[in-house]
Amino acid sequence: MLLQKEIDLRDPVRLGEELHRFAAELYPICRSITGDGLRQTLAAIGNRIPLRLVEVPSGTHVLDWTVPKEWNVRDAYVADSSGKRVVDFQKCNLHLLGYSVPIRARMPLSELKSHLFTVQEHPDWIPYRTSYYKESWGFCLSQSQMEELRDGEYQVLVDSTLVDGHLTYGECYLPGRSADEVLISCHICHPSLANDNLSGLSVATFLAQLLPGRDLRYSYRLVFLPGTIGAIAWLAQNRENIGRIRHGLVLTCLGDAGGFHYKKSRRGNTEIDRAAAHVLAHSGDSAGILEFSPYGYDERQYCSPGFNLPVGCLMRSVWGSFPEYHTSADNLDFIHPRQLAGSLQVCAAIMDVLENNRRYCNSAPYGEPQLGRRDLYSSVGGNTIGIEINARLWVLNLSDGQHSLLDIAERSGIPFLVISEAADQLMENGLLNEVQGENGIGPA
Ligand SMILES: [Zn+2]
Repeated sequence: MLLQKEIDLRDPVRLGEELHRFAAELYPICRSITGDGLRQTLAAIGNRIPLRLVEVPSGTHVLDWTVPKEWNVRDAYVADSSGKRVVDFQKCNLHLLGYSVPIRARMPLSELKSHLFTVQEHPDWIPYRTSYYKESWGFCLSQSQMEELRDGEYQVLVDSTLVDGHLTYGECYLPGRSADEVLISCHICHPSLANDNLSGLSVATFLAQLLPGRDLRYSYRLVFLPGTIGAIAWLAQNRENIGRIRHGLVLTCLGDAGGFHYKKSRRGNTEIDRAAAHVLAHSGDSAGILEFSPYGYDERQYCSPGFNLPVGCLMRSVWGSFPEYHTSADNLDFIHPRQLAGSLQVCAAIMDVLENNRRYCNSAPYGEPQLGRRDLYSSVGGNTIGIEINARLWVLNLSDGQHSLLDIAERSGIPFLVISEAADQLMENGLLNEVQGENGIGPA
């Protein structure tokens, strides 16, 4: 059964609510590129899907980078002279500049201000800022909070640890008939931010829950890792096996109310690029196709020229294009069950294309085979030529061993799902023979 159909059976409305609940469960955790927040997040994912945790020691050289020290926070605040906390990490983890080094000090407001960050255009939002590779400390607060600070002395406490430890990532491997793999990657390193990080990892987790127990053509590898350094560490540790990756998707920003965007791989015309564009064109939702650029999420690493993997990025609103991006307004109200479920459906439809994109040869290529005699010339729609009959004619005509079902779907303008069902019916009636490609899994 196609994954999309299984989602319909499981009820997309209910799935959307479950996706949102999962994001809500993870929302309060203080995540970063290392530390216990990552482990807690991976433990919650591991409660739902088989997950192997990998710990990479600080100081490990990974490609051109070095795994940083591990960062954890117990508490952090700015308090006024009466001891009242005016900026409090316990209230919102975005208040602390990510990777702030420990400090306990008293200082006047004028000195404190060089360590404070706000978003001026949105006076009630707290910005999300980090300083991973330059040792620093700081606090993020709303502009309104900032304006309430009176001159005087403030106490600053950052009770954090930044010491040799590990970078943690998780990997879920689901074997299929072939050792060739589909890679799904998402970042899990942002603290309380919903669209940018939790939406992608929730959709990836639910996708992985749908895959086991199926007769899979490809093997699936889902990686949950801290952005940039995590993908670089993963690539460094898996360099020998990179050739197995036939298709890949980075999932991010999948819960907001915006239409879909698919950013193509560096190669620009791989099967995943075409599958995603085709599915989005027929999704009924607005969709934009973006050319590759060397900025964005971890497709940057997978598509670096040495690896040049066929990996694109699926998102709704593009990072940085919505004002809530990297602020406290990217919260649980900014992502919606319906959009999360719709994103899961699109991911499933893309996987359905990859799983079923085969080539066939028409076994009766001289003239049109008599479909009426085989009860293949009637359509649900009645007498006029319906989409099902049209799909059968297209599949018969273009199944010359050269065209894949995706080629046929693109050329006919008929959704892949309908083309694939037509091919199944024609196979059952002996009118097609499947062409075996390399590794016996169909077209390259
Ligand atoms: Zn981000």
